[in-house]
Amino acid sequence: SDNESKQQSVGIVGAGLVGCLAALAFAAKGYTVYIFELRPDPRENPNPKNLRSINLAVSDRGIRALKYVDEEMAERVLQYVIPMKGRMIHDISGTKQESQIYGLFGECINSIDRSFLNKVMLDEMTSSDKIKVLFNQKLIKLSQLTNDDETPKMTFLDLSSKSEEKKKEYEFDFIVGADGAHSQFRYQLQRFSRMNFQQQYIDMQYLELCIPPNPNSKEDNTIFSIDPNHLHIWPRHNFMLIALANQDGSFTSTFFSPWSVIESLKSADDFVEFFRFNFPDAYQLMGEESLRYSFDHQPRGSLMQVTAFPYHSPNGRALIIGDAAHSMVPFYGQGMNCGFEDVRVLMELIDSNNHDVKACFKQYSQDRHQDLLTICKLALDNYYEMSSKVTSPLYLFRKKIDYFLGKYASGRFLTWIPMYSMISFRGDIGYSDAVKIEKRQRRILNNIQNGTLGALAIFTAVKVAQYWHKLKN
Ligand code: FAD
Repeated sequence: SDNESKQQSVGIVGAGLVGCLAALAFAAKGYTVYIFELRPDPRENPNPKNLRSINLAVSDRGIRALKYVDEEMAERVLQYVIPMKGRMIHDISGTKQESQIYGLFGECINSIDRSFLNKVMLDEMTSSDKIKVLFNQKLIKLSQLTNDDETPKMTFLDLSSKSEEKKKEYEFDFIVGADGAHSQFRYQLQRFSRMNFQQQYIDMQYLELCIPPNPNSKEDNTIFSIDPNHLHIWPRHNFMLIALANQDGSFTSTFFSPWSVIESLKSADDFVEFFRFNFPDAYQLMGEESLRYSFDHQPRGSLMQVTAFPYHSPNGRALIIGDAAHSMVPFYGQGMNCGFEDVRVLMELIDSNNHDVKACFKQYSQDRHQDLLTICKLALDNYYEMSSKVTSPLYLFRKKIDYFLGKYASGRFLTWIPMYSMISFRGDIGYSDAVKIEKRQRRILNNIQNGTLGALAIFTAVKVAQYWHKLKN
């Protein structure tokens, strides 16, 4: 009951996107929350290197979870997103752009500034009397996670403390790890539970680039130099470039390539040449100077996937969520969305289990595992789709039928939802259910495709026979 939750405390590690939402969610249910963050308060110490905005795509699952936790906050956040209604494919000549719409009924994914979203949630937490936010706290140890009657203990290094003794210990009824892909919380949890764990690097590096606001904004009547309402993709099979719009008219762009490609570019000069050849229009938009700067100074990252199971401690008092539990490659734009969904799924369990949090943490592992494995795999597969398939005629043909069936043929006897729509716009369908539905649809699509190809073959054969007949006579 709510009364019971008022007596109970929750300690959360990591004030990233997922940790913040979890803190707000527990507080809304009446728990006393402490949230610990390694870094200093980003609102007080804006990092000069990070003045450029980094955006990400928020879609239905993320929005649903935000609304579940705080409808009013969600509305406030949604005022600042830029809707993207489809992909815009840029070809290698630099002159042709082709739009591929995402939603059947005008649904969009949305570009949002990562640090803005984080700031809104931090402000919300600081103004709540149920939440205490502590920055500069580095988790180094977890203990007391085995027996039912033990309450978990967390040890932090207080990086802001001037004294010799920086270690501080805290005890809570429940603890949650939301400390990201390289989670210390998860590592500590592994000392107590028989957790299966897999970390897999993919041969892909990313480099952040930037398209500045439109220099001719007055004449063109827009601050954007390309359409802001699309996710722009320059697919080049082996590597690709993407760009998402920001409120200020700029675009955050990311170059993805295998290590061998990017490492073969030894200097900024090499990179600029490579770029001019492969992405001529993007080269024009970014300018040589900015490309050089990005090559030498902008952050580069490797991409990996982390899967784990179970997510809870043996005594059911600790749980990992977000990237700490499932880090996926960014190609479906679902990492944060899925982490937000973790929070909603957990909270709904807590509601339906009358606040028996221990039972819920255990249940959560069972209920959530298949969905998390599924989205990690889908994210990996989607790289192939974005970087190559979007230009293949057969893919486009199937997409057209898929779209047509979804839009016009869905009715009482047939429900047809394209895969992308299920993942991005239908948070009411679990990730693994989406795959089951897609399998059935793919079988039908194969039949249609084979049928069409078959019909085409028969038609051609008849024509050839008629022609042959004519020649003979
Ligand atoms: P994080 O954001 O990593 O936060 C973890 C927090 O824990 C950090 O603040 C960190 O400082 C803190 N911490 C770490 N260690 C400790 C410690 N020992 N003690 C205390 N605190 C600690 N997702 C989408 O939904 N849409 C997208 O379009 C999208 N695009 C992406 C593009 C790229 C290039 C990448 C790399 C990812 C993208 N993602 C996207 C994924 C998304 O960024 C992550 O899924 C999301 O940030 C995970 O949030 P989190 O809170 O779980 O972890």
